[in-house]
Amino acid sequence: LNAIVIVGAGQAGFQTVASLRQDGFAGSIMLVGDEPGMPYQRPPLSKAYLLGKIDAPGLFFRPEKFFADHRIDLVNSAAVALDRTNRRVSLADGSALAYDHLVLATGAHNRSLPVPGAALDGVFGLKNLGDADALAARLVDVENVVVVGAGFIGLEFAAVARASGKTVHVVELADRPMARAVSKETAAFFADAHRAWGVMLDFGQGLSRIDGERGRVVAVELTNGRRLPADLVVFGIGVLPNAQLASEAGLDIENGIRVDSYLLTSDPAISAIGDCAMFPSQHAGGSIRLESVQNAADQGRAVAARLVGKGAPYAAVPWFWTDQGDLKLQMVGLSAGHDATVRLGDPATRSFSILLFRRGRLIAVESVNRPGDFMAARKILASRATPRWEEAAAEGFELRAWEA
Ligand code: FAD
Repeated sequence: LNAIVIVGAGQAGFQTVASLRQDGFAGSIMLVGDEPGMPYQRPPLSKAYLLGKIDAPGLFFRPEKFFADHRIDLVNSAAVALDRTNRRVSLADGSALAYDHLVLATGAHNRSLPVPGAALDGVFGLKNLGDADALAARLVDVENVVVVGAGFIGLEFAAVARASGKTVHVVELADRPMARAVSKETAAFFADAHRAWGVMLDFGQGLSRIDGERGRVVAVELTNGRRLPADLVVFGIGVLPNAQLASEAGLDIENGIRVDSYLLTSDPAISAIGDCAMFPSQHAGGSIRLESVQNAADQGRAVAARLVGKGAPYAAVPWFWTDQGDLKLQMVGLSAGHDATVRLGDPATRSFSILLFRRGRLIAVESVNRPGDFMAARKILASRATPRWEEAAAEGFELRAWEA
């Protein structure tokens, strides 16, 4: 291989190029990204960055010098078409790049808010640095904030807005927060925590419309007819994979760009990784698309290793974290389909873990302010041997002791 082109300069794309050089790849590397500025990490956008605890350069994966020193060409343009026969990527600036191998790391875009008034000034999604800057500037002089969606990003933002002294109302269709991702126990704990901070939570409710005056949002109406004053509406109702480029080029698509266990698409000269890729996972017991730093970075490492001749089926254990107020929730494994739980520690101390089991076997662990449990659980879930429910439910069980 002489030329590797990576489309998408986010978490997965950055990790791929860094790992390629670390693994000794000596050919040319072109990292194509359509966002302005240096490649950056997104998680702080809804947390530390919005709180002013880190600045934009603090988000960069590496300073500019790193890319020059490692002969990584940063190409600031959007890829608009793939010519698979001639192995070329066309860019929006009219140029084209030839590749021997292409990595698609295009991420995902926010699901848009399907209600009248969604285009009013004061309605924000939160996906990139531009969104975060606009939101931070607006947050300064608003009073009433409505958050649509009690997923990770919505709740992280709700905690930030509340800490900034705003009146905050979260509206969620499901009956609890983070319903798709965490156990009922953890969800209930976070609902209580947000209420204790003064965040108002409305479950089983959607928005029916957003009202504006002179183009600017002034209120929202819930599906039950209730009206809430709002001078800022932030929505986080899920994302959709950026798969258009791949689909127009005729690659297999199924809830994202379909790849095999080596992260190869239906074209062996093209890989797909990160938020845009649907991959077979032994942890999911089927194909899955994950939206996390862990998944993007580990898949970037896996593709780089394969491209330097050290390929192996992708098998990393999924993990994820979220910071809300003083609470750090760290999760490892996939909770879907769990049928029993064990709790370690006391939620009243704001430090506990929930162990999730399916048919007696440990499949996931959710830790709140208990990083030791999270670290032990990562090792346990990566190994073949996992504790059974009966062991974990016994008095005095500790993950760290079991792992040792
Ligand atoms: P991205 O990082 O989104 O990068 C994709 C890039 O490709 C983007 O820059 C996009 O503009 C670009 N692109 C798309 N199409 C093209 C094209 N045709 N040409 C050129 N460029 C293109 N995960 C966690 O694990 N923990 C967290 O706490 C957490 N918090 C988050 C908070 C926020 C506000 C957001 C938005 C995400 C958060 N995530 C978190 C998720 C995590 O950031 C993503 O899962 C991760 O960034 C995915 O990496 P990626 O490379 O697949 O996609």
